[in-house]
Amino acid sequence: ATDSAHYMHPFTDHKGLAGKGARIITKADGIHIWDSENKKIFDAMSGLWCVNVGYGRQELVDAATKQMQELPYYNSFFQTTNVPAVKLAERIVGLAGDNFSHVFFSSSGSESNDTNIRMVRHYWATLGQPERKVIISRNNAYHGSTMAGASLGGMSGMHAQGGLPIPDIVHIEQPYHYGLAPTKDKDAFGLEAAGWLEAKILEIGADKVAAFIGEPVQGAGGVIIPPKTYWPEIQRICDKYGILLICDEVICGFGRLGKWFGSELLGAKPDLMTFAKGVTSGYLPLGGVVIGKRVADVLINQGGEFNHGYTYSGHPVACAVALANIDIIESEGLVDKVLKETGPYLAERYAELANHPLVGGAETCGLVAGFALMKDKVNHIPFDESLEVGMICRNHSFANGLIMRAVGDRMIIAPPLCITKAQIDEMMVLITETLDATLADVTKNGWMHDDAPKVAYS
Ligand code: PMP
Repeated sequence: ATDSAHYMHPFTDHKGLAGKGARIITKADGIHIWDSENKKIFDAMSGLWCVNVGYGRQELVDAATKQMQELPYYNSFFQTTNVPAVKLAERIVGLAGDNFSHVFFSSSGSESNDTNIRMVRHYWATLGQPERKVIISRNNAYHGSTMAGASLGGMSGMHAQGGLPIPDIVHIEQPYHYGLAPTKDKDAFGLEAAGWLEAKILEIGADKVAAFIGEPVQGAGGVIIPPKTYWPEIQRICDKYGILLICDEVICGFGRLGKWFGSELLGAKPDLMTFAKGVTSGYLPLGGVVIGKRVADVLINQGGEFNHGYTYSGHPVACAVALANIDIIESEGLVDKVLKETGPYLAERYAELANHPLVGGAETCGLVAGFALMKDKVNHIPFDESLEVGMICRNHSFANGLIMRAVGDRMIIAPPLCITKAQIDEMMVLITETLDATLADVTKNGWMHDDAPKVAYS
């Protein structure tokens, strides 16, 4: 098949796609994918899809095959479960640390965040405070595509379709230093941004607020890396008002930031953590919620039956693959490698990239990185949104054999955890070529500001 005309693509403008079809990916190995025309492409985004250990890992194929043969499926309802699910829950709780005691499994991040909403509201109802229902999230956040997931998310384009958000979900501004207050002291901005949570709590009334949810580093929202003061202050505010903290670790979890969970690196102590694709490196659908002792004690000891579960909760094949995936991450020391070797090297290379005339606010955290394409970075002037410079850049990147994502005019990457320094160099060449091609376009179109630096990086 080379034509996807009958396929309903997620997040795609179908009019734009009509007649063109989409690129069909046929195979993958390591950090590369190939399309149906046999073009080899460097997948700098495989990590945002969370193929953390890279493509083509025979260990994961073997784990799936063995489990398929032994027990392909059994449900987790009615007090039954299976060996891989039990082992995986134990393993994840071990990785998450002392604060956590249980895991609830689902098949995706969206389902897991739905679960979170039900859990935190059930928690407060069990404690006799059913009016504590409001969940505070952030603008431009991505927490999934179901009605609840997209409501927790803060994407206006998603809210506009389907009558979202559902009731009792509200949003505050994201801690985007470069976009909102680039000339302000970063740490002071971090405290100010966390203060928006306190202001919202006071506006609503703390006795109505159930939880705050946030990704340690916002991924699909544009790789927004908060100042280091942000999460400790968020934690302090949640503690002050007794509000539950949910960290959505779908992208940051399982090593991306150089710790098993991103919250650990950034100084938050969540009550609940959402995880998904990274747990199996995306080889099979699996997700869930790691439940802190505070919540588990109430739900399990006082809450009675929790009427919630999915047919694929604790799917044995997915759980077996997850265990093999964690084995690989551990045996190859990938989490530490991100912290001490590949993460710092990517940061170094992004510091150089910051010299490019188009690049503003280049930042990395572990193996996620982003920058904004700027009309005049010296004076912090972005391009007019309607010019869609991010899309132009993304199209150049595709043409250049590189998968890099555009979120508005922010260009983001998240390579797999197994990336080598040599592959980071290879990726930086592709990114620089892509930026030079974009610069040539916007210069030709007369879109750069007169004061903007004119000399290309390479
Ligand atoms: N939360 C975050 C932070 C995500 O990045 C995603 C997916 N990219 C989700 C939730 C939703 O996960 P899923 O697509 O598995 O439902």
